[in-house]
Amino acid sequence: MDVQKARQEMVDQQLRQRGLSDERVLAVVSEVPRERFVPDSMQASAYDDRALPIQCGQTISQPYIVALMTTMLDVRDEHRVLEVGTGSGYQTMILARLARKVYTMERIAELQEEARRVLASLGVGNVVFIVGDGTLGHPPAAPYDRILVTAGAPEVPTALVDQLTEGGILVLPVGPTDRQTLTAVEKRGGRVIETPGIGVRFVKLIGTCGWHADEEAAM
Ligand code: SAH
Repeated sequence: MDVQKARQEMVDQQLRQRGLSDERVLAVVSEVPRERFVPDSMQASAYDDRALPIQCGQTISQPYIVALMTTMLDVRDEHRVLEVGTGSGYQTMILARLARKVYTMERIAELQEEARRVLASLGVGNVVFIVGDGTLGHPPAAPYDRILVTAGAPEVPTALVDQLTEGGILVLPVGPTDRQTLTAVEKRGGRVIETPGIGVRFVKLIGTCGWHADEEAAM
């Protein structure tokens, strides 16, 4: 497969033609090698228009959703970003190319170890890896200019809103396990403004302010 050609077609057909037009985001997506974050058995599908399975029953999100969430987040050079749900590390690398520093949290240590290895091999240096429950955020480095959650939450975790700067933006999928609404939460003048976006389907956010692990086992 000609990965550069596949990537360019992905950007044109899956992102631009669906109305995404933030040139900074599109430029970064056209540079990040998605195939490096996809398991060996799925290489031929790396640039397909869908989410793909990764280790531990998790997923790497559909390219359109990654680009849309990144656009909604409006990341700038000087920003410090908290990401909840490292997964494959694909979204992490896109954020790292746009922001000053990224703190990424993952509850499954072995998944984060693999992501750390891939990002190091690609020379990405401005990422801090944290194994833990991202529904509680990461208070030691708070507040964050931007927070992105890449797993579906039953409701907006209050700890994450608390850890946003004034003017900060949090983007996350909120709703029941079978369908969530991609939501932007903005903190402005002490007020919290929620703007609902499109319907999505993510794996569960599991933690203190998320779903419980036993609900996972029951399904
Ligand atoms: N952005 C990732 C998508 C990963 S899927 C990618 O592009 O590959 C969501 C991830 O969130 C899973 O790896 C899951 O283990 C993780 N997760 C779920 N609940 C979490 C929590 N409370 N804290 C941190 N990570 C969590």
